[in-house]
Amino acid sequence: MDAAWSVFLQVLERVSGPFLSFGSMVSLTSLGCALLIAVAFVAARLRRRRRRIRLKVVLRALFPRRMVAHASTGIDISYLIFNTFIFGAMFGWALLSFRTISNGTIDALTGTFGTPAATALPEFAVRALLTVVLFLAYEFGYWLHHYLCHRVPFLWEFHKVHHTANVLTPITVFRVHPVDTWLFVNMLAIAVGTANGVANYALGVTAHQYGLTETNLILVVFIHVYIHFQHSHLWIAFRGLTGRVLLSPAHHQVHHSTNPVHFNKNLGSCLAVWDWMFGTLHIPAKAPERLNFGVEPAGRDVQTISEAYLASFPRAAQTMRGAQPESGMGRRLPGEQLPEPAVEPLGEMSLAPARQA
Ligand SMILES: [Zn+2]
Ligand SMILES: [Zn+2]
Repeated sequence: MDAAWSVFLQVLERVSGPFLSFGSMVSLTSLGCALLIAVAFVAARLRRRRRRIRLKVVLRALFPRRMVAHASTGIDISYLIFNTFIFGAMFGWALLSFRTISNGTIDALTGTFGTPAATALPEFAVRALLTVVLFLAYEFGYWLHHYLCHRVPFLWEFHKVHHTANVLTPITVFRVHPVDTWLFVNMLAIAVGTANGVANYALGVTAHQYGLTETNLILVVFIHVYIHFQHSHLWIAFRGLTGRVLLSPAHHQVHHSTNPVHFNKNLGSCLAVWDWMFGTLHIPAKAPERLNFGVEPAGRDVQTISEAYLASFPRAAQTMRGAQPESGMGRRLPGEQLPEPAVEPLGEMSLAPARQA
């Protein structure tokens, strides 16, 4: 009985962990912050339109019936349950460890170039520098994984599950294929582990970033300020230089659009700089754009979770044989004729407003 109780407690801890941890993408604190910011955003909009701010109106604006009652939202809930209570409770994600990769990098550099001299910088400066470096490495790992998922047909078959959502809500982050998540956490371990090893070697000291519950402090701030709006109906668009540095919620909503002009654009998480640098940035319009979300022909996007998860494997296998799967493909294949990027890569930057599609 004691053993069963202990297993139950372990599973409970594992399941509740992501919601209670500050640094988690789905922490209750970040969801609470998102709610407060959303209320302020809607209230400011009502005020601009000289309308009375009433609770009923605010709630209707935040949770429109067309989204709450949409079949796509119901399916997102089943993804949430599966990923949190079943898959998350049973399996550890990462195969590669951040620490192993970091130590391996330091050993390789020491073996090649010798032992470095320790930096004269004070500890807080070293930690602050490392916090920035690891955040940039996280963002680069995120961008690279996402780029490959959109460009390699085999990987797209798994990543496509995330794009089957017809409406975007904060729980759409759970609509991911386990293979996609597995690849993601391992690529992040490589990107952040390597950066940590190089930075520690260059500084000649073993340093730790500033963080909360083992998550980079800068990332924690972004998670609490605007990450949740990326999957929402609130059009918060950063433009100009800000829109080239930060990936606003509207940037990510454009990423989900079925308009071919938007395919393979805005692949970053919090920062737009990697998209800007590699020519995959599309700056959203200031006024809300009319966007449709999904990947299949109309009416075929909504799938059950088991269909979505299991169908990815034979489709991915088909891509290995060079064949094109029957449905939902053909839009993002390598070499397809895509419209020109709306924003020049960093090297050819001009500060003129971005051409809008
Ligand atoms: Zn994507
Ligand atoms: Zn998304």
